[in-house]
Amino acid sequence: MEGTIAGFLDASMFVFIEWSPFLRKENSVKKLVKGMLAGDVLSLSRLITRIERDGADVPGVMRELYPHLGKAYSIGITGPPGAGKSTLVDRLTAVIREQAATVGIIAADPTSPFTGGAVLGDRIRMQQHYLDDGVFIRSMATRGSHGGLPRSTGGVIKVLAASGKDFVLVETVGVGQTELDVMENVDTVVVILVPEAGDTIQTMKAGLFEIADIFVVNKADRPGADNLLTELSMMVQHYPKQSWWQVPVLATQAVNNVGIEELFKQIEKHRHALEGSGQLEQRRREQRRREFLETVERRVSDELLKLVEQNAEMGKYMDRVEAGEIDPYSAADEIMRPRAFLAGLSQQLSEERPTG
Ligand code: GDP
Repeated sequence: MEGTIAGFLDASMFVFIEWSPFLRKENSVKKLVKGMLAGDVLSLSRLITRIERDGADVPGVMRELYPHLGKAYSIGITGPPGAGKSTLVDRLTAVIREQAATVGIIAADPTSPFTGGAVLGDRIRMQQHYLDDGVFIRSMATRGSHGGLPRSTGGVIKVLAASGKDFVLVETVGVGQTELDVMENVDTVVVILVPEAGDTIQTMKAGLFEIADIFVVNKADRPGADNLLTELSMMVQHYPKQSWWQVPVLATQAVNNVGIEELFKQIEKHRHALEGSGQLEQRRREQRRREFLETVERRVSDELLKLVEQNAEMGKYMDRVEAGEIDPYSAADEIMRPRAFLAGLSQQLSEERPTG
């Protein structure tokens, strides 16, 4: 689906349709959603592209998708580069497919020139699933050298869920802020480490323990794996997560297909624990709440920023800040302090904003 030729065709069709005034109407969000729900892979690809572009039509897309969410179970897989995430995702997908369940995969696709080789590597490793209708793979361009997933990943998980996939696997690199945010949007978080990471574990962020529902020591065929397993098992005792779930520490050899079925068993076990304790519903409620607040926050700040930029007072400060006459922090302090400034914006808002 994301193969070179299909990708090229998709991209060129996309450009053609986007720039053709005759076809643009036809290509409405509703039509794409309808196509996607009917199983059309191109519609699914296009909806994901729209969400990735993070444009003005995203709220419209999400509105159409919302009634169709619910059934998919999402699994986040995170760990340092080279830990074997892609290999493991590939093998886990095979195990899930044996159960006749369908899979959507979001893979971090490093675009940095320094890691460019990994793009092809990912594709080769996952190629056994490229021709499988029950698997949809989307590589998302990551920004910068850290390989962070874009903010839009949460939306992409939703499109894949709405398309009817039983499982959505999200592969991320590292534990930057975006990864932590993405991991808040998935149901089970698997953190992968490798024996080589033995030293880094000492300095490992507590954040990793907070997000991990399952720890995996991959490359268990390598020396040092036993030590890491013991160390991690001890550490998870010190970070008791919830009364209803004890974080397991598993050994895998993704490349040799060892331990993957056990991993899937533990994922299912975690799922049952989440469901049985009412936590799954609670987590979904929190996700919806966060999404609502974030959307409002974004809208409010967009609107306000527009007004602030037009504000005459603001213009004066901007000139002084740009000229280096006043530091940005003092300028922000000065302009925000008098209540009159905010009141003025509010006045402007009620005058300029059309209702509805
Ligand atoms: P990612 O960067 O985390 O996605 O890691 P990859 O899946 O690309 O794997 C990095 C390298 O580790 C590849 O050469 C894999 O073949 C290799 N690898 C993956 N799993 C194992 C394993 O269990 N044992 C060993 N020895 N190598 C592995």
